[in-house]
Amino acid sequence: MMDACNICDEPLGAPVYESARPVSITSLCQVLDGPTRVWHCENCGHTQTAPLPALEKFYAEDYHILTASEDEDQLYAVREGRKIFRTEHQITTLLAKLDLSTNAQVLDYGCGKAATLKVLHGRRDDLAPYVFDVGEQYRDFWNAFVPTDNQAVNEVPTEWAGRFDAVISFFALEHVVAPKAFVAEAHRLLRDGGTFYFLVPNVFANTADLVVADHVNHFSESSLHRLLTDAGFAVREIDDTAHNSAWVVVAEKSDANGTPPVINSVADEVTAMAEYWREFGNRVRAFENTNEGEAAIYGSGFYGTFIHACLERPEAVACFLDQNPHRQKQTLLEKPILAPEALPETVRRLYVGLNPRVAREAMAALKWPQELEVFFP
Ligand SMILES: [Zn+2]
Repeated sequence: MMDACNICDEPLGAPVYESARPVSITSLCQVLDGPTRVWHCENCGHTQTAPLPALEKFYAEDYHILTASEDEDQLYAVREGRKIFRTEHQITTLLAKLDLSTNAQVLDYGCGKAATLKVLHGRRDDLAPYVFDVGEQYRDFWNAFVPTDNQAVNEVPTEWAGRFDAVISFFALEHVVAPKAFVAEAHRLLRDGGTFYFLVPNVFANTADLVVADHVNHFSESSLHRLLTDAGFAVREIDDTAHNSAWVVVAEKSDANGTPPVINSVADEVTAMAEYWREFGNRVRAFENTNEGEAAIYGSGFYGTFIHACLERPEAVACFLDQNPHRQKQTLLEKPILAPEALPETVRRLYVGLNPRVAREAMAALKWPQELEVFFP
């Protein structure tokens, strides 16, 4: 159970959200046993999810994010027909925000296969790349560009303390049960004046983050600020516009003043999101029960999986649709993932499994050969 806030240690009361059924869905679209329970801390504005008992096994055995191939990546946006992948966008943003000196030593902390660091190193081969993560499963990816002495698994070598010009981290801190220890470690590893640069999901821009089972932390601007200043960082920037649905955070190991804290309460927004997810299954089933015929789900990510899990008769779903060519080689819940133009002509109903903020706009850009009944999230 959740006794205290991960960020400010304030005691937590009743959960703000509990899933209707004892089933939870992870960021990798796996369906696990056990309910998702979420708490909000009014003291610091942090929101957090109780880690599932099944998560330990999940990280040890199942959490192989995008390790299927070297070039697998998530689709970030489609602009004027051009697909932009997440890694590419992350590098563009990082280079715009970070002034990395020649030969800077850069550690990707909790790096996974370190795809972003690899592309960064490709653009700036003067940089000295270092990697750290738990588990040996990423070694083959690292070996392509990181010297063995610059790789660490499970434990960081003593001599790395105070070494780094920059510690970078992409979508790791939301998974961490002890975020204060993670941030303290980044602080310890940086030299004085060094920069901690990281990305985490922004639940306020993508409501699904609230109910992703393996995202333990759902940060607000206020809780990010608190986490960093408590660890001795000066906050330079907490940006919610540079990367869709993410916070881009820049902090400096420095005694100088950073940006002032944000004290707006987000309790009402979190409560509204919890209500949205409590009702979501009922809305899906109402659509399911008033329409007939074969169905497809547009989007093979979290929203699509969540919709599938809500259905009373999931066997009516023939396939998922996804614009990401990497996804089209795969299956989800034993169903094929097809390109949108490959929608079978027998399908009559379409569930849109996208962020509700962008779902209508994304659908308006598409043409279908047949008449479709459409469910919007
Ligand atoms: Zn708190």
